[in-house]
Amino acid sequence: MNIIGQKNILNYINYILKTNNLAHNYLFYGQKHLGKETLAKKFSQAVLCSKRKGSSYCSNCLSCQYFSKHIHPDFFYLTGEGKSSLGIDQIRNLKQFFNSKPVLSKYKVALIVQGDKMTLQAFNALLKLFEEPPPYSLIIITANDLTRFPLTVLSRAQVLRFSLPDRKQILSWLEGEKRNIQDLALLLFLSSAQPGMIIQFLEDKSKINSFKESISKSLSVLKKRNLENTLSYFQGNKGVDSKFDHLIWALRIALYNKLKLGGFLPDSFKKEQIDFSLKDLYFLIQKVFQSKIYLEQNVNPNLVVGDFCLYLDKFNNL
Ligand SMILES: [Zn+2]
Repeated sequence: MNIIGQKNILNYINYILKTNNLAHNYLFYGQKHLGKETLAKKFSQAVLCSKRKGSSYCSNCLSCQYFSKHIHPDFFYLTGEGKSSLGIDQIRNLKQFFNSKPVLSKYKVALIVQGDKMTLQAFNALLKLFEEPPPYSLIIITANDLTRFPLTVLSRAQVLRFSLPDRKQILSWLEGEKRNIQDLALLLFLSSAQPGMIIQFLEDKSKINSFKESISKSLSVLKKRNLENTLSYFQGNKGVDSKFDHLIWALRIALYNKLKLGGFLPDSFKKEQIDFSLKDLYFLIQKVFQSKIYLEQNVNPNLVVGDFCLYLDKFNNL
């Protein structure tokens, strides 16, 4: 299973499946790339499977076949991905889904991904289901921001908190998977030790190199910091946001090395020094974050880039 770490949560879910001791809702909470959605789907499939043994689904029964084809009549999937919000209409559909009894399985399961995107109205509609759940209902929600949940909903939710696995857990997972890693330090650094990113990098190793190259480019932009060079870095206005992300990585590397904390950096980044003072680095990081906020607010990218290029150029005359 592509889940790294989360031992307590896995044990807990195994236990409730084995003992058939299901609550009516679970809230999987934690930052991105920890495997919340992956686990929620496995959990759903196990609950729906009609030949489940202990905690694992069988992969063969009709229920499992329908589940893998995404046509299970007792499974409802709602995601906030790529949407600005999840509104009341979607939760109304969810309620409609729970109005009738399951067709194939003992349960009806709804999975809401990025549940923190629900509007207040949507949350209130959901609250009714939390207060009076049909006996056959299970709702699983994934979220990375609990502050958006009304307390009324939160207080009725079974919250399972996902955490970033430590180095030891990652290493033992890699060992178990028999994955051959050339540069472990680089993999851990570029993925920020986030399981979802580690898996993406392992599935397509060319991504590691292209990411590393992008950061190197950003480092050279900061070193040269001349107006023309910075403008050409941003040229095309395509992927401006990710170019700012790469600048943050480069600034972070410069900061670690400046503070002599670069011990964990991959060798290729250990010696990257840029002659900025700590104060300069601080202001630059602020500036990059500010630029990203402007982009999010739909300010014209040309203006944001122009403003940043001029700002960086100022450090030339110091
Ligand atoms: Zn099955």
